[in-house]
Amino acid sequence: MAGDRQTGVTASRRETLVGLAALGLAGPGAAKAAASPFKVSGVAVQGGSLIVRAGPRETIAAGAELIKTSEHGLAIVGFDRDAEPGLLISYPRPGGPPADPKAAAAEDPQALWIDIAPGTFDVQRVDGLPQDTVTPEAPETLAKIAAEATRKAAGFASNIEGDHFRYGFEMPLKATRVSGRFGGQRVLNGVPARPHYGTDLAAPKGTRVEAPCAGVVSFAESGLHYEGGLIMIDHGQGLVSAYLHLSKVLVEKGQFINRGHKIGEVGSEGRATGPHLCWRMKWRGRNLDPTLLVGVQAPGI
Ligand SMILES: [Zn+2]
Repeated sequence: MAGDRQTGVTASRRETLVGLAALGLAGPGAAKAAASPFKVSGVAVQGGSLIVRAGPRETIAAGAELIKTSEHGLAIVGFDRDAEPGLLISYPRPGGPPADPKAAAAEDPQALWIDIAPGTFDVQRVDGLPQDTVTPEAPETLAKIAAEATRKAAGFASNIEGDHFRYGFEMPLKATRVSGRFGGQRVLNGVPARPHYGTDLAAPKGTRVEAPCAGVVSFAESGLHYEGGLIMIDHGQGLVSAYLHLSKVLVEKGQFINRGHKIGEVGSEGRATGPHLCWRMKWRGRNLDPTLLVGVQAPGI
């Protein structure tokens, strides 16, 4: 069925892109990459992310970010939609990130240079949305939106101890098709809007939504202006996934949930034209494509 085919496409794209990322480590640099203390898995593309393995509870540098690894030596490094074409992963350097990180990578026997492939982003025109979810004007609506934005920011800023992402993600819906890809440039009711920072998964209202990976619920509310029912799950290392437009929210903030736990039901609440799950992912303020983490296990697992 369509849902299975879509999952297959995602899987093959992942393997291809992991292959591309590996190309950056092949050839003359292969021996050096093998010697690097950093091992990576995942998809090095705009919107993608890597699971990095180093020593337990070490501080590593990924570009300008300083990251403390988990007790298993794991960290997440995410690339947003507009990420630069390459990233240096190293131990922290005196003086901070080098001016020429690629040259620095060549000189540092422990460093790893990651080539980041460009993403392909479409234009998404969505018509028929409730107009006050595109151009809200009423003062009470604007006040509600502002208050919700503050609470949502706190949910996304959650950063628990742990690395529940290490066994990878599954899809949150068992049978679905992608109805809106990550990163598309959006035109909502004819009004140019921000890019789409999620993957839309179409499914009937009431469809079971499962936690695709274990974690702690960092946000769980119904009735939000844009999102309707919204859940966020913190998977550790600042990696937070989100589930939008839910008709039912079945978990509470602070609750630990295992993979496969029913967290809610698909709906069309908020800024939506029909029932679907908008699945999002954030890491340190960057918006990531969650589907690119499906099936990616930590190196060495
Ligand atoms: Zn969406």
